[in-house]
Parts: sequence; structure tokens; C-alpha cells
Amino acid sequence: MSANDRPVALVTGGSRGIGRHVVTRLARDGYDVAFCYQSNKEAADAVAEEAGAAGARVYTAQVDVARHDAVRGFVRDGEKALGPLRTVVSCAGIVRDNPLVMLSEADWDAVLRVNLDGTYNVCKAAVFAMMKRRTGSVVTLSSVSGVYGNAAQTNYSATKAGIIGFTKALAKESGRYGIRANAVAPGFIETDMLSGLADDHVAKMTERIPLGRFGRPEEVADLVAFLASDRASYITGQVLGVDGGLVV
Ligand code: NAD
Repeated sequence: MSANDRPVALVTGGSRGIGRHVVTRLARDGYDVAFCYQSNKEAADAVAEEAGAAGARVYTAQVDVARHDAVRGFVRDGEKALGPLRTVVSCAGIVRDNPLVMLSEADWDAVLRVNLDGTYNVCKAAVFAMMKRRTGSVVTLSSVSGVYGNAAQTNYSATKAGIIGFTKALAKESGRYGIRANAVAPGFIETDMLSGLADDHVAKMTERIPLGRFGRPEEVADLVAFLASDRASYITGQVLGVDGGLVV
């Protein structure tokens, strides 16, 4: 594939966890990839190197997805560096868990700003140009918490449920312009996000998962890459679980 033939993907939160695997998977699938990260340049450089070794041109930027103007700049500069976007993956996300009675306003705000505003910011910046080109796909990261709720995660569950509504609405309003939008709802996936879980909690959760284990980030990346691609050309407005059967 020559440089000009490669479709371009843009991923938020690509320096680690699920986002890291989305970036490298898309690179192996033949995309050039722009991705942003919150703070760890070293980690981002390592991901960029891995994606580059797979043949991708890569653009990286340190961007806070909660900041609308910064995300606009990231999308603009990413397109300048690599070309028009074919796909957008909104992956950056945070947790600040606490039961509602203990949940601070700051932790409520932070999770809404990164998870929900971040999804709005990147889609808002990217989708109009895709509509004009009459092609493109959007994949958002929801969660089983957004589908069924999770104790001590009113903030996180609200954002992940919000992302589902956002994605379905976007699918409805942009389908006629050739854009597909789908949400992925992972269960428990082995990333830094879950590193704070106590061992007994992990054991209890594992018992509830029919496949008997937590998922790997590359298993989520596989689904994201499928939904982003033309192989999913008649799939839009869906929420697809990748949770080992946790929610059935
Ligand atoms: P992670 O903590 O390992 O990685 C999060 C990524 O988001 C990092 O690359 C980080 O740099 C980026 N990020 C965080 N805040 C940011 C900000 N303000 N601006 C830019 N980037 C920012 O998490 P993960 O497990 O890989 O989660 C990725 C996505 O998948 C999240 O949206 C998360 O909610 C969702 N998810 C994860 C799980 C799980 O079990 N790990 C389950 C369901 C959903």
C-alpha cells in the first residue's frame, strides 16, 4: 500500500491500555494514525514507534481531550500531517470512583469533562469534514457500566450511558452522509484503569464472567478495528459488548 492509499485514523488516548492497542492494530491494518495522549510522551513515543514499524505514518500530540480548542487543533494538525480522516476512535477516559454520597463535585466534573465532553469535542471537530466527503466511521468507548450501571460509578456510568445516546444520535443524523457511528462496551479489561482493584474484588468479578477471566486490551482493539473498517459497512448505531459474557 503506498502512503497515499492508506486511510487515516485519529485516536484519543492512544498512549496506553486499549487506545495503545487500537493504534497499533489500525497501523497493522494499513492505516496511518494520529493519536493524542494526556502526559506520558515516552509511552506515546513507544506506541508511535510500534505503529511506524508496521508501516504507518504517525502523528502524535499531547492534548487534553476536555479542552475543546486543543482538540480542534489536534484534529486540524493531524489532518494536515496525514490527510483527511477516514475514522475517529474516541478512547480517552478516566475513572474517579466513589459512592454518590462521597463523590466530590471535582470528581463528578472531571469524569464528565474527559469522558463525555472529550467524545463531543473530537467528534465535533472531525465529523463535519467527513460528512462533506460522504465517508467515515466513528467508534466510541462506552462500558458495561454505561449499559447496566455500576455501584460507586455514578459519574462514570453517566458518561458511558451518555456516550451510547450520543453515538446513536450521531448515527441517525450522519448516516445519510455516509458516516457510521458505533459504541463498544467493554467489561473488565486488563489495563492500568483497573490496576487499583482489590484482589478479592477481582476474584469476585471473575466468578461472574462466563469466560472466567478479564479481557485483554487487544481483544477490544479487534472489535474497534472491525467497526471502523468497511467490513462493518452495514453496521451503525450499535452498542457492541466485549465482556466475556458478563452481560447476557
Ligand atoms: P487507561 O487508563 O489504561 O488509558 C486511558 C487513556 O486515556 C490513556 O492513554 C490516557 O492518556 C488517556 N487520557 C486520559 N485522560 C485524558 C485527557 N484528559 N486527555 C487526553 N487523553 C486522556 O484506560 P483503558 O482501560 O485503556 O480505557 C480506555 C477506554 O476504554 C476508556 O474510555 C475507558 O472508560 C474504556 N473502558 C475501559 C474498561 C477497562 O476495563 N479497562 C472497561 C470499559 C470501558
